[in-house]
Amino acid sequence: MTGAENDVARLRSMIEESSRGVVFTGAGISTESGIPDFRSPGGIWTQYKPIDFRDFMASEEMRRESWRRKFASDAVIQKAQPNKGHLAVAKLVQQGKVSSVITQNVDGLHQLSGVPDDKVIELHGNTTYAACLDCGKRYELEDIRRVFEKDETLPVCDQCNGIIKTATISFGQAMPVEEMKAAESETMACDLFLAIGSSLVVYPAAAFPEIARRNGARLVILNREPTPLDAIADLALHSEIGPTLSAVVDFD
Ligand SMILES: [Zn+2]
Repeated sequence: MTGAENDVARLRSMIEESSRGVVFTGAGISTESGIPDFRSPGGIWTQYKPIDFRDFMASEEMRRESWRRKFASDAVIQKAQPNKGHLAVAKLVQQGKVSSVITQNVDGLHQLSGVPDDKVIELHGNTTYAACLDCGKRYELEDIRRVFEKDETLPVCDQCNGIIKTATISFGQAMPVEEMKAAESETMACDLFLAIGSSLVVYPAAAFPEIARRNGARLVILNREPTPLDAIADLALHSEIGPTLSAVVDFD
């Protein structure tokens, strides 16, 4: 067997031996669907200084700028489809091998690939819809866009007059409490933690693999580039996600 075949065989048997896995995903799984990694060189965040949550709250002009950028960049996200990596993860959930998917991504591709909503834990929110920051009422982007594109009218909650924002967690915004708790308890309950497509450098998210490992779970890291946690992993694979996972997971 080649090194790569050997790695695939090891990952396959680790999944077989596991009774409760957790998948943790970062930008790398979605770049294979054409979604740019916003933090990478040349990504949107290196061209524009990100709008901090406090500036968004403090200034109508910042809120307008934020919606302008959102609608200008949205076509890519709207067109993106789940790739083989997402489908393999969905299959593992369907087979009962994986109890939940914790993700740093905001693109909703895990749900689109067939993972039920209640099995996806979004640490950074979701950019495919918006919500009132006060009462949480959900709003669809198309409705906001239709009004905004006429004369840049900012969306206001029809239920409580609150400020509406895409349902993502911005820089300067607190991590979502319920999601962080759910991610932690899922991590504590698993016997296999699969970190896929994350550089594992953004805290607090990057703490989960360490928690899993310390708690006795096996840790697998699959990422194109080496990560700072490779040294504590039981298996670290540096390869494309879709091709690797489709070699590991049997599709019908
Ligand atoms: Zn509201």
